[in-house]
Amino acid sequence: MTTDADIGGRRVVILGGGLTGISTAVHLRAPWVLFERDERLGGHARTDGRDGYRFDKTGHWLHLRDPAVKQMVDELLPGQMVPIARRARIFSHGVLTRYPFQANLHGLPPEVIKECLLGVIEAKVAAAAAGGAASGAAAVGVAPEEPGNFEEYCLRHFGAGISKHFMIPYNEKIWGVHPREITAAWCSRFVPLPNLEQVIAGAVGAGPPEMGYNQSFLYPKAGGIETFTRALQTRMVGGQVHTGSNPDVVDWRRREVVVGGERIPYRALVATIPLPELLKRMPELPPAIESEAARLRCTTLRYLNIGARGKPRDDWHWIYVPEKRYPFYRVNVFSTAMSNMAPEGCSSICVEMADRGPVTESSLRDTAAALVAAGALGDVGDLVFTDEKQIEYAYVVFDQHYYQATRAIFGFLEDNGIYPRGRYGAWTYNAMEDCVLAGREVASLIDRAVA
Ligand SMILES: Cc1cc2nc3c(=O)[nH]c(=O)nc-3n(C[C@H](O)[C@H](O)[C@H](O)COP(=O)(O)OP(=O)(O)OC[C@H]3O[C@@H](n4cnc5c(N)ncnc54)[C@H](O)[C@@H]3O)c2cc1C
Repeated sequence: MTTDADIGGRRVVILGGGLTGISTAVHLRAPWVLFERDERLGGHARTDGRDGYRFDKTGHWLHLRDPAVKQMVDELLPGQMVPIARRARIFSHGVLTRYPFQANLHGLPPEVIKECLLGVIEAKVAAAAAGGAASGAAAVGVAPEEPGNFEEYCLRHFGAGISKHFMIPYNEKIWGVHPREITAAWCSRFVPLPNLEQVIAGAVGAGPPEMGYNQSFLYPKAGGIETFTRALQTRMVGGQVHTGSNPDVVDWRRREVVVGGERIPYRALVATIPLPELLKRMPELPPAIESEAARLRCTTLRYLNIGARGKPRDDWHWIYVPEKRYPFYRVNVFSTAMSNMAPEGCSSICVEMADRGPVTESSLRDTAAALVAAGALGDVGDLVFTDEKQIEYAYVVFDQHYYQATRAIFGFLEDNGIYPRGRYGAWTYNAMEDCVLAGREVASLIDRAVA
């Protein structure tokens, strides 16, 4: 086992060159070396091209909250990032309604609106009754019960109708598991919670202007989201980047990574590659950590990049599609956000499939027909090409084992100088800005420890 006295003079090793790895390298003062499996950096924040069409790896819209990150983006890309007011819609019951569903029922069939409104009112009445009971219970030291899972959370906050028509089917499609299998803890920042007045106003067409954490976003004037990623890379100094490099072993006892047979000692390891990929490269893990590692769950995502002639009927940037009869759950149109993402008069579209299996000819036909129904395509014949893609690690499943497993694994890793960070390193649900911030945070932590 390597001791603290042995590690002076070693570099910081960064595994993975997505936004978290890049940001770590940007912010570190200690010398570093970064290993990235692919031929170019960027991870999920990259853009691919075909025949004049450009596609991000599914919709990647940049939402910024942190003033320092905003300033950095302004400096890196002065005048190059365009602020865009979000136009997100729900496609359900054959109509497009505004996002979020729960605050914009207007436009849906009357019987659906009625079912949703009654459900919210019943849920509010039940919550008020439970609140009264809980305040009595609190007096005798009993805490009100948290929802046991995300389905219960939806029923409690939105009632049966909204849960049935949007929350349950949409979340089942996106997470790949039923909402009763996941906890509610991930969702507080991402799921808007309108009050009763807002729900009623939204049902009669007088809803709030916009709700939710992502009401506007920044998007590069040219080149797709990778323009941002590349700009950030220009600030990486004081280290080395190795692309096409996939470490074989992380020898945690000796604090060395083995890449192509070469042993590289590290003083700290920032691991932004998916957590299971890290753990399987670490020999002789303690049995308790091995068994927690076996509990980590994540869903794979298949998506389609579609080059199309013509423009969508409406000007939305993305739609959410909850109904089971459609084989996808979200559609993004990059060329609506920035017209140069497709050739003149054409559209670059990304469809996130709910079915995790390979896309068959018949599901492709169903998808094209559904895109016509949603107005994304004028006609099935407008398809120019379809490219099927996969994200192996897409959505971490926050099931009931998640918290115990990650607590044990992260404690063990940090005790051994390994810092898991980023969406898949820290095994979480987050966005690009969070990854830039995570890189900054871990760099400062390591630099302080080294100083
Ligand atoms: C479907 C989807 C939609 C999203 N939409 C948005 C959005 O609209 N807005 C937003 O802000 N965020 C969005 N995100 C989140 C965003 O993509 C992530 O938060 C962020 O890009 C993650 O960066 P990362 O560096 O942590 O991980 P990654 O981007 O996954 O980077 C990890 C890197 O490690 C590399 N790697 C993997 N294994 C190895 C190995 N064995 N050895 C070496 N390298 C390896 C990978 O090639 C990759 O480059 C979305 C994510 C998904 C899945």
